[in-house]
Amino acid sequence: MKVSNLTNCDDEPIHIPGHIQSHGFLIALSKDFVIRYVSENIGQFLPVSQKDVLGRAIKDFTDIVLDPGTTLNFESILAVLANQQQGYANNVFQQKIGDKRFNIVLNQSDELYLLDFEPAESDLRLDLQQVVGRSLSEMLADKDLDNLLRNAAEQVKKIIGYNRVMIYKFHEDGHGEVVAEAKDDDRDDWIGLHYPASDIPQQARELYKTNLVRLIADVNDIPSPLLAAQRTGDTPLNLTNSVLRAVSPLHIQYLKNMGVASSFSVSIIDQNELWGLIACHNYTPRFINFQQRESAKLVGQVLSSAISFREQDEYQQSIAKHRRAIESITRYLLRNVPVQEAVLNEESSLKDVVDSSGAVFYFENYIHAKGNVPDSEFVESLIKFLDIRTSESGYYTTTKLAHEFPEAKIYKDIASGVMACRLGKELSEYLIWFRPEIVQTVRWAGNPEKQVDVDRTGFSHISPRNSFEEWRQKVQMTSALWKKDELDAAFSLRDEVNYAISRKATELRVNNERLRQAYAELDTFSYTISHDLKNPLSTVKSYAQLIMRETLSFDKTRMLAQKVEAAANKMQFMIDEVLQYSKAGKSAVQLKQINMKNLMEEIKADLIVSATNEELVIDLMDLPDIAGDELMVMQVFTNLLGNGVKYSALAAEPRVTVSGVEDDTEVTYEVSDNGVGIAPAEHEAVFELFTRANSSKGFEGTGVGLAIVKRIIQRHNGRIWLKSEPGRGSSFFVSFPKRTGSA
Ligand code: ADP
Repeated sequence: MKVSNLTNCDDEPIHIPGHIQSHGFLIALSKDFVIRYVSENIGQFLPVSQKDVLGRAIKDFTDIVLDPGTTLNFESILAVLANQQQGYANNVFQQKIGDKRFNIVLNQSDELYLLDFEPAESDLRLDLQQVVGRSLSEMLADKDLDNLLRNAAEQVKKIIGYNRVMIYKFHEDGHGEVVAEAKDDDRDDWIGLHYPASDIPQQARELYKTNLVRLIADVNDIPSPLLAAQRTGDTPLNLTNSVLRAVSPLHIQYLKNMGVASSFSVSIIDQNELWGLIACHNYTPRFINFQQRESAKLVGQVLSSAISFREQDEYQQSIAKHRRAIESITRYLLRNVPVQEAVLNEESSLKDVVDSSGAVFYFENYIHAKGNVPDSEFVESLIKFLDIRTSESGYYTTTKLAHEFPEAKIYKDIASGVMACRLGKELSEYLIWFRPEIVQTVRWAGNPEKQVDVDRTGFSHISPRNSFEEWRQKVQMTSALWKKDELDAAFSLRDEVNYAISRKATELRVNNERLRQAYAELDTFSYTISHDLKNPLSTVKSYAQLIMRETLSFDKTRMLAQKVEAAANKMQFMIDEVLQYSKAGKSAVQLKQINMKNLMEEIKADLIVSATNEELVIDLMDLPDIAGDELMVMQVFTNLLGNGVKYSALAAEPRVTVSGVEDDTEVTYEVSDNGVGIAPAEHEAVFELFTRANSSKGFEGTGVGLAIVKRIIQRHNGRIWLKSEPGRGSSFFVSFPKRTGSA
């Protein structure tokens, strides 16, 4: 057998058939009102032949007298055509021709005007206006969708009087189902019957979106061919907008096989897509006129908007429900809890983001599950399957897992449907939802698998179906469908989770860095404490032993005790400083505007009193106020000025100068002295805990002061740096931002 060609029906150019249904006739005019096409059967309606009219101006026929006193009056028609160059559709004129009234339906087809002439009389007579008004209000009376559809079918049946009116809905895979029906009592019940997608070819569906109604008045009609004026050559006439358009012979055969004599259908459109059809069958030929078709169309339009409204409403409600679940998870994600706890929180979890019976969050190689899910061994192997299936798009959905992943067969009650969303490209981490099997018996109108015929040349193709015998198919290992908004919800959750993970990763890195610094500090800390406290401690110990061992004079004992006290004081001082350092890192920064003049004067007074060099001068220059924690700022300047005084004490005229400048963003203070200075290589190190510069030899000190200063400045989001050279004094700079905050 050769390659299967299942698109036979799809290939047929139904836009441009060369025929019309013969219950009416057609004239096509070019923009200059010359007759370019005419249907062959014109002679059956007008006392002219096609040869008489083709290529001639329509005006020439304005006065064709058909009946005494009745004139075929094209004047008004031409006026409409001339005034409304484009954009009109289905303008209709009534005209008596012979003893029959006709509807002339005006349409445009590419560059031509189409005039469809069809009988005004219908096979069914009723007061349409009254019926339609009542129909619409009856139809909309019920809010329930099933009832709405049934009402619509009933109303259309009243308007057109066909034997059977069905509401036919297209499923996602293109096949159709009869979801409501109104029929004569002696007809079988077709509700719930499914029809294969191939029954209505793709290009027919496209046409149904623009052309909302179609009538096939009699399947046994012999279509009338169209004839063209010679000058238009072979250009086929586009009959898309013609109400008389003949349909494909394949479709006619299909209807005949079904036993249908007349067929009429109205499109149901939901948001520009073909939702379904109002499909009507009559088992004897029945023509319905333009007005009836328009009335049925109106019912279709009202039904379309009712369905659209309902579907939109349902969609919005479903989106809102998913959003709520995602928001609840997001709230947890923002708290300081592990990601998996947030995703599977008690309030509203992963499982609720999408309607599912169970869900798995596969994260850091762990299965975190909620609801009804397969055992972990299966989930692990499913993950491997997902790694392959999601590699391109990042997601995977199926309603038939066992078809693609046979191991899933035994889990059909839990996992016939799977939707998975991968967190990132590199890692095998997923959000997975499960749905159970829904066993369904689908009633097909004919076996959909036996649609393929093999013709004499060996090609297989779809022929018009000849069997509509009911065929039941038990659908197994299939779950409910995953909808578009559910996939969207999955993506939103994935983004939230990814965001939380990356935020946590950053936090973790920052914390690690802090920890690393703290450890390094702790090392120096313990080393120095043990080293620096060892000296005074051994002093205390040895003097105490001396006092105990020997009989000493009171004075000697007192002298030794004084040494013990001095050593103890040194230890005390050291311990106090270390405590201060630790405090500078921990206590809360309480910002306020600080009067720097007062603060500096206070520090200066203390330093002058205790100065060892009487020549000491402390110059206070411009002292702009800053925003800071008063106690901490006091500590900063006590240390900086104290160091200035200490390390310049040996100068002949020691001088410490303090001045501040301010700009838009910060206030910067400089504390400079003319002391021993610091070698550039040590500028960074002096801010570290217990670190002293070489030039500090001979000066008392612990190496803690500047570490405290640096910490305080950091907690004020400020900066600290220095300029200095050995023997040339030092300048320390500290700047405080104008709007400081605690670090
Ligand atoms: P210390 O208790 O040793 O003074 P600091 O932490 O206050 O400890 O200072 C660290 C080191 O920085 C000092 O040991 C000293 O070497 C150097 N230093 C600080 N201020 C000055 C200054 N004004 N002039 C020279 N050296 C200084």
